[in-house]
Amino acid sequence: MMKKMSSVLFAAVLLGAVMSGCGGSPANTGGSAEAAIPGGTGSAPKIGVAIYKFSDTFMAGVRKSVVAAAKGIAAVDIVDSKNSQLTQNDKVDVFITKGYKGMLINPVDRTAAGVIIDKAKTADIPVVFLNREPFPEDMKKWDKVYYVGAKAEESGTMSGQIIAEYWKSHPEADKNGDGVLQYVMLKGEPGHQDAELRTNYSIQAIEDEGIKVEKLAEDSGMFDRVKGQEKMAGFLKTCGDRIEAVLANNDDMALGAIKALKADGYFSGGKYMPVVGVDATAPAVKALKEGTMLGTVLNDSNIQGKAAIKLAAVLSRGEAPTKQNIGFDITDNQYVWIPYKKITRDNVADVE
Ligand code: BGC
Ligand code: CA
Repeated sequence: MMKKMSSVLFAAVLLGAVMSGCGGSPANTGGSAEAAIPGGTGSAPKIGVAIYKFSDTFMAGVRKSVVAAAKGIAAVDIVDSKNSQLTQNDKVDVFITKGYKGMLINPVDRTAAGVIIDKAKTADIPVVFLNREPFPEDMKKWDKVYYVGAKAEESGTMSGQIIAEYWKSHPEADKNGDGVLQYVMLKGEPGHQDAELRTNYSIQAIEDEGIKVEKLAEDSGMFDRVKGQEKMAGFLKTCGDRIEAVLANNDDMALGAIKALKADGYFSGGKYMPVVGVDATAPAVKALKEGTMLGTVLNDSNIQGKAAIKLAAVLSRGEAPTKQNIGFDITDNQYVWIPYKKITRDNVADVE
């Protein structure tokens, strides 16, 4: 027994020695390999990460991914901007004062990106934006500015296609039989590219399928589950049985809407409503399987977080990012686009 234990111990010590003695690529090993990172002063480069608000379901997934993917390549300081741009600007100032080598910013208000870029440029600290896309004119202010995200219009098109496919294969979906699809829209935060473009492109996709539509109501649920539920309850009061489909800019609002629909007798006794969201969060996947949510669109928080921190880590080492060193294509020298994917009950296993 003793003998066995000590040989295991010996092997562990030996392994430790080997591991700290040669590190392979500095990008994926810890220990002494990190000392080799230029600008890292003996440890992984420090990167300041500011999330617009920690309580956002989708961003919680991104945050988790950033933390996991940072292991061995960056020391991340992740802060909550608490949905206040002023707070976020202060956090950025602190990152700069602390001499961090890179920043990863999920803006509260994407129109404020220009101010952050000015600060970053003055301090010569590369900045990667995430999830809330800065305007092109701000992106052009400096070449050490990047954006990692997904193309909002793509998610809009896909969610509209899910509704269109359902409508075409379910004649009973036209509840009043007028040949027109009466819908309600739960919009995300106004001004957010994902709210504006998903709203427009989803309806465009339905019309492109040759389906006539009529908007009964549209309101912002701010990407929030409770607000989505409240707005849907309101729509049900004013539009009642006239509603034939619910489009939500994200899963949280779609799930809120489903809750309001359930309270109104839907999803039991043959009363159905097609509801689509975007994100493919875990509770949405559950709703898909239960049959309350018709479809969603995978907004890949895991890949987006990973791409963003890899890019920020490369930049923070003073290197030029390439497909080889970050593992993702870079478009127009400043953008990393992560594709969306349509998810329904048929392929739900792909996101589990
Ligand atoms: C997601 C939303 C999220 C928002 C935050 C969007 O891409 O679909 O769920 O609330 O980003 O900025
Ligand atoms: Ca109709």
